[in-house]
Amino acid sequence: MNLKDLELTIYRDPATPELDEQELCRYVEGTTSINTITKESILERVDEAKVDVFSKRFAESRVRDIEEKNEGFEPNFGEKRFEKRLIEDSSKDVKGVLYDAKKLEKIYLLLLNEQERSKNHLPFVLTNRLIGTFGEDNRYHARVSLYGFPMILSSTGLVEAPAKPKQFYRKKRSNSLKTKEEIKEETEGDFIDYGENRITKAMKGYLLQGIFHYLSKGFFCENNGCRFYNAHWQQELINAQINKPEFCNKHKKEIKEIKKRFSD
Ligand SMILES: [Zn+2]
Repeated sequence: MNLKDLELTIYRDPATPELDEQELCRYVEGTTSINTITKESILERVDEAKVDVFSKRFAESRVRDIEEKNEGFEPNFGEKRFEKRLIEDSSKDVKGVLYDAKKLEKIYLLLLNEQERSKNHLPFVLTNRLIGTFGEDNRYHARVSLYGFPMILSSTGLVEAPAKPKQFYRKKRSNSLKTKEEIKEETEGDFIDYGENRITKAMKGYLLQGIFHYLSKGFFCENNGCRFYNAHWQQELINAQINKPEFCNKHKKEIKEIKKRFSD
């Protein structure tokens, strides 16, 4: 495959209006020169005759018990109906459900057409479903991203996966009437919240990590100020993805090389 034929697609998530796919698209093109386009939500692809089949598949990909690997179960009527509504209206918000990321990946793959499944296509599905992977410690961990085929980027994951400052949870329990803003101020710990436009800014780093994964470049970075840093706390996420500088020297150089490769 000639790398120059690589085309990247970002599939919009209507349920996360604050996640601006156009800005992500411009960012990828500006930073890497990879030919990038945006497309409508991947859920729009579900054929009307197959809504029930897909509702069942989505319901089956739920995590019912965080300490038990989802090896398959028969979803109940309510779970299937819930998924059906989400397929019929992709702008509906999905909070409070965790999905097995690898099972979702298989469903999204079914929704790509032949051309989109080719080796020189790099698909990124944006979703507000919370995704998780089963870890060696025998439990699910929420994630921002799954670097598979297609790649999955979860806006809810940005808010929920990296842990908030410890005081946040204590304050939250004792002061249920306070707003998150007030709690943020009192805990002196910043974190990314639903509806913030920092979600788009932070997601840029996860797109780049996905691109590096595709190009088989090692992508995690030791430098906590770099977009390739593997953040486990909200403060680390903000430091790596929002605060300047964007990259460590090594990644700055590697990105430059990629840009040169794709623009020559
Ligand atoms: Zn770095």
